[in-house]
Amino acid sequence: MPEHNPTQNTDAQNSRDNRDAETSVARPTWAEIDLDALAANFREVRRLVGSEVRVMAVVKADAYGHGASECARRLAAEGADWFAVALPEEGMELRRAGIVQPVLCLEGFWEGQAGACLAHKLVPVIYRLDMAEAFAAAARATGSVADVHVKIDTGMGRLGVRYSAAEEFARALKKFKHLRVDGLMTHFASADDAACDSFTGEQLARFHAALDSFRAAGHAPTFIDMANSAATFAHAAARGNMVRPGGVLYGLWRDVLPSQSESPSLRPVLAVRSRIILLKWIGAGETLGYGCTFEAARPTLVATLPIGYHDGYVRALSNRGRVIVRGQYAPVVGRVSMDLTLLDVTDVHGVELNDEVTLIGADGELSLTAEEIAKIAGTISYEITCGISARVPRKYKAGDRLRIAD
Ligand SMILES: *Cc1c(COP(=O)(O)O)cnc(C)c1O
Repeated sequence: MPEHNPTQNTDAQNSRDNRDAETSVARPTWAEIDLDALAANFREVRRLVGSEVRVMAVVKADAYGHGASECARRLAAEGADWFAVALPEEGMELRRAGIVQPVLCLEGFWEGQAGACLAHKLVPVIYRLDMAEAFAAAARATGSVADVHVKIDTGMGRLGVRYSAAEEFARALKKFKHLRVDGLMTHFASADDAACDSFTGEQLARFHAALDSFRAAGHAPTFIDMANSAATFAHAAARGNMVRPGGVLYGLWRDVLPSQSESPSLRPVLAVRSRIILLKWIGAGETLGYGCTFEAARPTLVATLPIGYHDGYVRALSNRGRVIVRGQYAPVVGRVSMDLTLLDVTDVHGVELNDEVTLIGADGELSLTAEEIAKIAGTISYEITCGISARVPRKYKAGDRLRIAD
């Protein structure tokens, strides 16, 4: 049953009911987002860093595929201090969802978006002088002084003012009277890898030198932040006064944090499920799917699932993945295709048409983590969760309620 919010106006309510009706007749493939697990993971981060360190929850890329609006609302209710997105477009989506906390745009803004950023109170990361100039001009036009965060590239080599140029950049920024440097930040290349700890230490040292330069030039950034998930957990010295975790909030850690003796208390947030839409026997020696890559060694009971690589169930899982059905693991057989995937369910006792199948997540005693699936597919868990496409409706779980997104 979808949740009915009495504060919604009638039009919104109708359009939501229509949408619920549409999704309820859609094919039986969906993602479940456990907002209570998200909240528990957030509290775990809070517990770890203590009350003196702010938490900027990273919800870019639609919250790593989990749904940015719903996740941000719950994280805001749990006390997230800031949110981070990649693009101003994503920041505006958070504003439309009612998020009032400060929002940082990690990639800055595109030409022509400065005014919109200001209007929506989105704070851009700045890494070029022409961006500073454009943002200052937009601020001057509204008679305000705009906050920006400056990113220092301390060795990642991606976005940011190269650390060797930080002093010059800090001085050059002083001429923009309508800008205030509210934050100074950097990003680690390999905080998850103990073998790279000396490089992480070097990045930290370069960042502190840049911070000194900024202060010497007369800037007084409020926020000093460096730490992604891995650094938040593994490098306490790199927490500064704000951390920027993403993955751990979604319960992704097995390929995110350095391998450690103790498992962190983090719970997976995403599950992907579907239902068997066809069951059939094929004979020994017969083949399945494109390219005939699976040949049955015995009479085989084959189940068809309405999910494929367009949904983000990646083709690399062909003949390699597994799912959970009726409390048992069953292998993926043949090539995963665009909209369909096949299973060998010969050994699944009592399997029936319409049985629920878990492709990612837990079902009873068994579970399949995004990290495990990523490993089989030769990638990382983030790419798996980000890849669950918009064609897969999200259902949000809180308490014992399961509902479609607002
Ligand atoms: C994505 C991102 C993060 C979060 O990284 P996780 O590994 O998900 O914790 C933090 N900072 C920046 C600049 C990012 O781009």
